[in-house]
Amino acid sequence: MSNPISADAVVIGSGPGGYAAGIRLGQLGVDTVVVERGAPGGVCLNVGCIPSKALIHAAKSYEKIGKSADIGILVDSPPKVDMPRMQAWKEGVVDKLTSGVKMLLKSAGTRLLRGTGRLAAGGARRHRVVVEGDGETHTIDTDHVIIATGSRPIEIPGFAVDGERVIDSTGALALDHVPERLVVIGGGYIGLELGTVYAKLGAQVTVVEALNSILATMDPDCVKLVARKLKKMDVKVLTSTRAQSWSEADGCAVLTVETAAGASEVIEADKILLSIGRRPNSEDLGLAEVGVNTDRRGFVPVDDKLRTNVAGIYAIGDVAGGMLLAHKATKEAEVVAEVIAGKDVVQDARTMPAVVFTDPEIASTGMTEAEARAAGHEQLKVGKFPFAALGRALSVNDTDGFAKVIADADSGEVLGVHVVGNGASDLISEAALAIEMHAELADLMLTVHPHPTLPEALREAAAAALGEAIHVVNR
Ligand code: FAD
Repeated sequence: MSNPISADAVVIGSGPGGYAAGIRLGQLGVDTVVVERGAPGGVCLNVGCIPSKALIHAAKSYEKIGKSADIGILVDSPPKVDMPRMQAWKEGVVDKLTSGVKMLLKSAGTRLLRGTGRLAAGGARRHRVVVEGDGETHTIDTDHVIIATGSRPIEIPGFAVDGERVIDSTGALALDHVPERLVVIGGGYIGLELGTVYAKLGAQVTVVEALNSILATMDPDCVKLVARKLKKMDVKVLTSTRAQSWSEADGCAVLTVETAAGASEVIEADKILLSIGRRPNSEDLGLAEVGVNTDRRGFVPVDDKLRTNVAGIYAIGDVAGGMLLAHKATKEAEVVAEVIAGKDVVQDARTMPAVVFTDPEIASTGMTEAEARAAGHEQLKVGKFPFAALGRALSVNDTDGFAKVIADADSGEVLGVHVVGNGASDLISEAALAIEMHAELADLMLTVHPHPTLPEALREAAAAALGEAIHVVNR
C-alpha cells in the first residue's frame, strides 16, 4: 500500500454526477480526487444516453432515406445497414466525449484516480477512501466524500444476462448485427428506445410489459402517439404480460409469457433484451462500516444539500434515487460542490424535465393533469396544439405530435408541459424555464416565437388554454 494521499474531497464515480462534481469542486478551489473503476463518463457517456442517441439518430436516418421518395428524392437502390460501421461511428462519438471529461477534470485541477473505491474507518482526516486498481492500493484521507457510483440494470430470475441470447442495454448498444427477432422485456424508456432502433433497422420486435401500459410515468395522451407509431412499425406490444422463462430450441430462444388472461404463450426470439429498470451501485462501498444508511432498495437517502446521515458523506445521481437521469445527477453535482465549498445552497429545482427518445419523442416537465389535481389545483386550464397545424412540422414532413400546456385556472401559472413529436426534446427546456420562473400562460403566449419553428407549438398551446390560439379552432 502506498502512502496515504490527502485531499479535501473525494468523489467515487465519474458519471455525469461524479465528473461534474469533480470539475465544479476544482473550479471552487477544493482539492479533489475523482475515483473511477471503469471508463470516465459513467453509464451516460459510455453505455447510456450518448451511444443510445447516436444509434437512434442512425436508425432514424435509415428510415428517412427509405422514405425519401415521399419528398421527391429518389434513391436508386435500397439503403443498407452496415452495423460494424455504425458501431464504429458511435464509438467515435463516445470517445470524443470521454476524452473531454478527462481534459476538463485536469483543467479544473482535479485528479482522476483509476480503481475501485470504498469507504473505510480510520485515517488522519474525517474520512478515508481505499482505492484498489492496477495491482495497487491507494488510501485517500479526506474531509468530504461524494458517492456518485450510479446504477446498473436489474436482472430477473431465469433471465441471467449471458451476452448471447439475453442481453441488457449495454449489450444492445454493442450488437454487430441486427437480430431478426428481438424480444424486449420492459416497456420503459430504455427498452422502447432500443427496441425502436432495431425495429427501424429491420428487426421484428416484440415488447413484453407487465403493467397495463408502456411508459407508465409519462402523460397518457403522449404515450398513445408512441404506441400508434410502434404499431405502424409492426412492433408488437404485449401489455399486462409477464415474461416467465426461456429455453434454447432449434437455434433460437423460446420465451414463455403469461398474458393478462392468465394464458401461457410462447415467442421465438434471436435476442432477448432485458430492460426492467435499474438498481443502485451501493454495495461493496463500505457504507455500513462507516454508518451510512441505505433504503430497502439500496438507494442512499439524502437531504436537500445531498448530505447522507453521516457528516461529510454525500450522495448524488442514480445512487441517491429519484429520477435516474443524467441531468438530475449533474444538477445535484453542482449543488453538492457548492455545499462542500461552504455556500448556502440547496437542491431546489421546481421541475426535473424528462425526455423519452422514442419515435415520436416525448418530453415532459412539471405535473400531469392528474398530478396537478392531486396537488390541490382543482380547476385547470389545458391547451393543446397539434404539430399538424405547425408550418415547421409540415415542412420537415414530420407532423405526428402535439404540445400540451397545463395551468392553474385561477392564477394562470404553468404547472406542467408535455410534448410529443420529433423535436420535443429540444422544446422542453423553454417549458422548464417557464415553470422555474413561475410563468403564467400569458408569459408563454406573449413571448414572440420565431416562425417557422417547432417551439411555436408551446406558444399556441398556451394561447389555446386561454382560448386565444390563432392556428387552431379554440374550444
Ligand atoms: P453513472 O453514470 O452510472 O456513473 C457511475 C460511475 O461510477 C460509473 O462510471 C462506475 O464505473 C463508477 N463506479 C461505481 N462504483 C464504483 C466504485 N466503487 N469505485 C469507483 N468507481 C465506481 N439519462 C438521461 O438523462 N437521458 C438519456 O437519454 C438517457 N439515456 C439512457 C440510455 C441508457 C441505455 C441507459 C442505461 C441510461 C440512460 N440514461 C439517460 C440514464 C443516465 O445514464 C444515468 O441517469 C446517469 O448516467 C447517472 O449518472 P451517475 O453519475 O449517477 O452514475
